[in-house]
Amino acid sequence: MTNKLIKYNKKRNFNKTKEPIGKKTSSSSNLHFVVQHHMAKKDHYDFRLELNGVLISWAVPKGPSFNPHDKRLAINVEDHPLSYRNFEGIIPKGQYGGGTVMLWDKGFWIPINNPQQGLQNGTLKFTLKGKRLKGNWTLVHMQNKNWLLIKENDNYSNNIADISQFNTSIKTGLTINEINNNETLPKKQSVNSQLVIENVKVTNPDKIIFDNFQISKRDIAIYYQTMYKRMAPYLENRIISTIRCPDGTSGTCFYKKHMENIYQGLAKVMINNEKGIKEDYYYIKNITGLISEVQMNSIEFHIWGSKAKKLAKPDMMVFGLDPDEKLELKDLRQGVKDLKKILDDLSLVSFLKTSGGKGYHVVVPIKPSTSWKKFQAFAKNIVLYMEAKWPDRYVSNDRKSQRKNKIFIDWMRNIKGSTSVAPYSLRIKKNGTVSMPLAWRELNKIAPDEIKMPDAVKRLRRQDPWKNFWNSNQELK
Ligand code: MN
Repeated sequence: MTNKLIKYNKKRNFNKTKEPIGKKTSSSSNLHFVVQHHMAKKDHYDFRLELNGVLISWAVPKGPSFNPHDKRLAINVEDHPLSYRNFEGIIPKGQYGGGTVMLWDKGFWIPINNPQQGLQNGTLKFTLKGKRLKGNWTLVHMQNKNWLLIKENDNYSNNIADISQFNTSIKTGLTINEINNNETLPKKQSVNSQLVIENVKVTNPDKIIFDNFQISKRDIAIYYQTMYKRMAPYLENRIISTIRCPDGTSGTCFYKKHMENIYQGLAKVMINNEKGIKEDYYYIKNITGLISEVQMNSIEFHIWGSKAKKLAKPDMMVFGLDPDEKLELKDLRQGVKDLKKILDDLSLVSFLKTSGGKGYHVVVPIKPSTSWKKFQAFAKNIVLYMEAKWPDRYVSNDRKSQRKNKIFIDWMRNIKGSTSVAPYSLRIKKNGTVSMPLAWRELNKIAPDEIKMPDAVKRLRRQDPWKNFWNSNQELK
C-alpha cells in the first residue's frame, strides 16, 4: 500500500507546490471523505475516499449530483495522502494540476459493501456524512479508469437542487475567486513605486513574477538589461512572439504575437498569411524595445529563424531534442552528440544551448541565401536520417505516442513562421530557468534545466561560448 503514493509524489515538485508530501498514514477508525472543487485547466471536482491510510480519488468533471437520474463520470486518478483532505489553495501554474483548490465538502463515509472487494468488482456502495453530501451513493466501474458516481434514492436525493448553489469553501467560506485573490492580492498591493530602465518606465517593479523564488518584475528588467549585449545578435530585428504573465507566472499567461500600439524600440512588420491577408507582426530594435516588452510583462521570448528585413532567407537552423520523460540524461546527451557528428560530417558548425526545460537545442548558423523550403527540407532530412539509422532512439514525428523511450528531434522549428525560444530567454514553466548557450564541452556537465537567472548572469564573466556564431558564413549544399 505504501507505494500507492509514489505516483502522487512523482507528479509533484514540492519545492513549488504547497500540496502535502505523500506519506502513508495509518487508517483512522472513522473513514474520511473530501470533495475539492478544483479550478485547473479544466474545472472539476475531486472526490476522495479514505481507505487503508490513503485517499482513493476520482476526478468528477461535472461534480456529484443529488439527482439519482444523473450518472456522473468519475475518473479514477492517483491515490492522494490522507492529509490532502485539508488542502485548499493555489497550485502554481505549470505544476501538475496548476489552479485553485477549494474545499467543497468533507466528513466521513461508511462502506455498505466490503470496500476492497467493491473496488475490485466495480461496485462500491456507501453512505456519506458530509456537510453537503449525505445519504447513500454508488460508484460503478465502467471501463479503464472510468466510473460513474450515482446518488441513491433516499431522504437526501433531490431532483431539482444543483450543486452550483454551493460555491464557497466549507473551511473558509470563500469562493474560488476569493481564494485566488487572497493569495495574489498582497503581492499586488505592496507596490506603487516606479523605476526607469533604458528610458522605459517600469511600473509595479516590486510585483513578484516567479513567486517560488521571489523574482520581481524589477529583477527581470535588470536581468534582460544585463544580458542584452549577449542576447541582441539573436533577438534584434527578428519577429518575436512572447509569453506575457501580467499576474506573475502562477497567474494566467498568454502568447503575444501582435503589437497593438506603438512602443519605443519596437517595430511592426506586415506579412501576408496563407490567405493573402496582411497580418502585423513585430520585432525588437534595441534594448529599449526589450525593456518595453518587460514593462508589458513579457517574460519569455521566441524568435523567427530569419531577420525581419530578410524574411524569406532563414539564417538560424534549430534542432530541439525533446526526450520521452523516462529517458536518462545520458541518452539525451548521446542524441545531441549523434546530431552534432552528422552536422560535423556535413562541415556545418553548430552551437549548443539548454532549452531551460527538458531538452537541448542545437543551432546552426546559415548564410541567409536559402529559401525556407530548402532550409526546412534540409533540417527534416537530417532527422529522417537519424530516425532511419537509429529507429529505437530517435523519432521525427512530434506525436507523443511515438516517443516512448525515444527522443523527438524537432526540426519543425525550421518551417517558415515557426519560432524557437531565444538564447538567454527566461522560461516561465520551470521557475526562471534560462535557455543558455553552452560550450560543447559543457554538454556532459550541465543539465537542460540547470541554468537559472542568477547563474546566467554569473556566466557573463566567462568567454561567450557562441562568440563565433555569426562568423561561420556557411551555406546549405
Ligand atoms: Mn484535480
